[in-house]
Amino acid sequence: MATLLALCLLTPAHAAPQPVVADVEVTRDGNSWIADYHFSRAAPAWAFLHSALAREDRKPWRPRSWTIETKGLRLERHGWYDVLVSERGNVPERVRIRFTPSTLDLEADYDPALVFSDGAVALFTDQFDVTPLPSAAAAAKLPIELRNIDIAGLTRATFRDRAGKVLHAGVRKDKVVTTEGRSYVLFGKGEVVSTADIAAVLDPALPKWLADDLRTSTPRLLALHRQLLGPRSGPKPMLMASWAGPTPGRTSLGGSVLPGLVLMAFEGAGVAERSQQARDYMHWFVAHETAHFWLGQTVDYDAANHAWMTEGGADLIAVRAIPSIDPAYDPRKRLNEAIAKCAGYARRPVNSANERSEHDAYYACGAVFGLVAEAAQNKRRPGGGIGGFWRSLIEANRKDGVVSQADWLAMLTQVSRDPTLARDIRRLAERGSDEPRRDIASLFRRAGVAHDVAGSGELRLR
Ligand SMILES: [Zn+2]
Repeated sequence: MATLLALCLLTPAHAAPQPVVADVEVTRDGNSWIADYHFSRAAPAWAFLHSALAREDRKPWRPRSWTIETKGLRLERHGWYDVLVSERGNVPERVRIRFTPSTLDLEADYDPALVFSDGAVALFTDQFDVTPLPSAAAAAKLPIELRNIDIAGLTRATFRDRAGKVLHAGVRKDKVVTTEGRSYVLFGKGEVVSTADIAAVLDPALPKWLADDLRTSTPRLLALHRQLLGPRSGPKPMLMASWAGPTPGRTSLGGSVLPGLVLMAFEGAGVAERSQQARDYMHWFVAHETAHFWLGQTVDYDAANHAWMTEGGADLIAVRAIPSIDPAYDPRKRLNEAIAKCAGYARRPVNSANERSEHDAYYACGAVFGLVAEAAQNKRRPGGGIGGFWRSLIEANRKDGVVSQADWLAMLTQVSRDPTLARDIRRLAERGSDEPRRDIASLFRRAGVAHDVAGSGELRLR
């Protein structure tokens, strides 16, 4: 596929309760969209917390789709942030902004909107989040990482549609109110397919093969995950799939995951007709992202550089689930690629891969470490697999909601009764190795991961 984007790493919500410093009423009236702000602090400038650049031209997206109707105000760019600036004194208490939902793909953040071909629109709730600043220039000192920003308080957003109800977390309501919603609100109809495990909103113009496949495979994948992993926390999750049309020469599936929500944006002639490659990728995407409703949301990792636990876990759970919706699918292709990639990445500590922009190492080495846990689990309880391993981890950590690297390694030792496996995985995670392939082969041998060694020395799952 030409465009494969997955955004798995979430920004955590602020742990301590915060005061509300701004209210915003977002209203759709036909084709007109308005955001009415009510600021409860006096400040000469307010920064928009979600201000990632558009991927296509690395420029801010707001000036292209937002118009400040209140006089004497400007949108300026300072550092990593779009800032609402008063030309004199403080920004007034009430500010009106008119906007067109922007579907631009952003760099490492959620797209402001998903537009469906029947006119339905899903808005990213947190695009309206603001924080007061002592001056516009102060925004230049804010770090790029949202999690590192010490904000003055929260923005409370209310979403309404003059035409009727809006859909949020699987429920249609007259209005939706969020603070740090980390979600999307759907305006308009959209076809909703609801089962006990998930509510899916599919663009009515999606190519038929895609819609038919999503309609049947998604509920089955969710049911499989539930049977394997046990109860999930949070309300019924949603999947939203939009279609931007059969653009010639394009094959694009972008997507992301938020708490309780998987988003997919399809575009291009390349996915208009059924293809096995597009089908495999779509199944992998849905199976992987929905596994995060458990690994990542029911329990979280303790630190972002331990993402190998949840990314590798979600990946292994995904490729093990797909054959039940597509018997022709061979999980070994993706897993063998992961083994080969990990043998490269693990020369350096896997845990610090994010500092080298090697996020793929968390998926690849996470899957390798997951294979060791899976084999250990299967030896102990045949058929338990990686799902059984994670079910025990979730149950043991459901209360505090966090699986630490120490928890994961201790579970491996408990299941395998061989502490050298955890010791060696920990070494690859924290220190790396001069000969990662040799170390992976040794882990596989001791844990009982069935594999062959090719003439070139490459490891291949049997
Ligand atoms: Zn993921």
